[in-house]
Amino acid sequence: MSVRVRFAPSPTGNLHIGGARTALFNYLFARHHGGKFILRIEDTDTTRSKKEYEENILQSLKWLRMDWDEFYRQSERMGIYSEYLEKLKSAGKVYKCFCTKAELDEKRRKCDLMKRPYKYDGKCSGLSAEEIKNLEAEGREHVIRFRIEPGTTVINDLVRGAISFDNKDLDDFVLTRSDGVPTYNFCVVIDDALMDITHIIRGEDHISNTPRQLQIYKALGFKEPFFAHIPLIIGADKAKMSKRDGGVAVTDYSGAGYLPEATVNFLALLGCSYGSDEQVYSLTALIEKFSVEHINKSPAVFDMNKLEWLNGFYIRQKTDGELAGLLTPYLAVKGITPDKTKLAAVIKLEKERLKKLGDIVENAGFFFTDHLEYDKDAYEKFFKNSGVLALLGEYEHELRHIAFDKASLEVFTRGFVEKKGLKLKDIVHPVRLALTGKLVSAGLFEVMETLGKDVVLYRLNQPR
Ligand code: GLU
Repeated sequence: MSVRVRFAPSPTGNLHIGGARTALFNYLFARHHGGKFILRIEDTDTTRSKKEYEENILQSLKWLRMDWDEFYRQSERMGIYSEYLEKLKSAGKVYKCFCTKAELDEKRRKCDLMKRPYKYDGKCSGLSAEEIKNLEAEGREHVIRFRIEPGTTVINDLVRGAISFDNKDLDDFVLTRSDGVPTYNFCVVIDDALMDITHIIRGEDHISNTPRQLQIYKALGFKEPFFAHIPLIIGADKAKMSKRDGGVAVTDYSGAGYLPEATVNFLALLGCSYGSDEQVYSLTALIEKFSVEHINKSPAVFDMNKLEWLNGFYIRQKTDGELAGLLTPYLAVKGITPDKTKLAAVIKLEKERLKKLGDIVENAGFFFTDHLEYDKDAYEKFFKNSGVLALLGEYEHELRHIAFDKASLEVFTRGFVEKKGLKLKDIVHPVRLALTGKLVSAGLFEVMETLGKDVVLYRLNQPR
């Protein structure tokens, strides 16, 4: 059997990080088995689907280096769904339902009051031809519902094992809406069957749809695919992922300066293990090792620290030259066009500390501008203290005669504080504040060396 899998996003929002994980599992599975990875845009919901979201999805998948073999858009396949709806009609598997929205809302409300799950009661399932004719003559709108057969439906899930449903609990669900637009549960089956999808790997939030979809497979005599429902991703607080977990769209991560290699590596570990404690995997290694058997049943916790750690790791794998290219756009957004030599020196200094590319602005923006933004509290604490200002003045004065390499600067500074009976931190904090605007930076003597004597003396000399 040659493997064919698909990723089937609805373009109703930017590609969510959870969606990207689903796409990745499908992609790894396809490439591992030498099969095909199909991208299908599920855009039948014309009110919620937007071209810009489709573009965001494609752009995000490309950024993650997931290339697809075939591409489809459901909105271009409407004729096919009508054809299969006709087949279901002739086989007596569907019926017209004239219930109004108000009527159904009322029934749903009553169920809620009684704390019972709502399920369509089949009111229209036994309408006679005569009754239907009359309702249509009145101009009443209708949807088409699928008639669920009695019995049980079993999903043989590759992750969760057999999951059994009593068909009594499945209601006669809608296949086409009153405007004739086919629903997700209908199109998905027709497409998966006609596209010869062998394995459906998707989020476990779809488990409740699967028995309904299996009914359509049966009614149309389609061969059932294998299913693998993958665990949900939850935030650090064990609740559903939200914006608080550091952005939810893939483009939020790419924008902040996460690297695609790190993001792929991180997503691949969300709910799947690869047979060892190793955390670092290239895309090639993931393709080689991926297996549905290694997918977990329990929810995957989104650990931002792990993503940052991985990202830092991949940043340090880059050459300084590659990093210069990657960091320049982040500086450009802040109006900084760095001099090449200076940027190279700053990269040497900051490479170890970067968790994401965007950090370059916060960590090292002060190298490229003379208009420092000072940490307010620190400014009050140090620069409103005449003792500290006097000390800085003396330091600056003596510094004029010192060679500007980090070793000489350190020897000099240590000698300076010793002479005064002070501690190193007594001078390091205010000097760092004067040079960088902040109390945290790369090693001070390296910062001084990189800034150069003129800039250091100038900044120490600023009136406070
Ligand atoms: N369009 C559906 C979604 O975005 C696809 C679900 C599926 O994979 O069947 O959730």
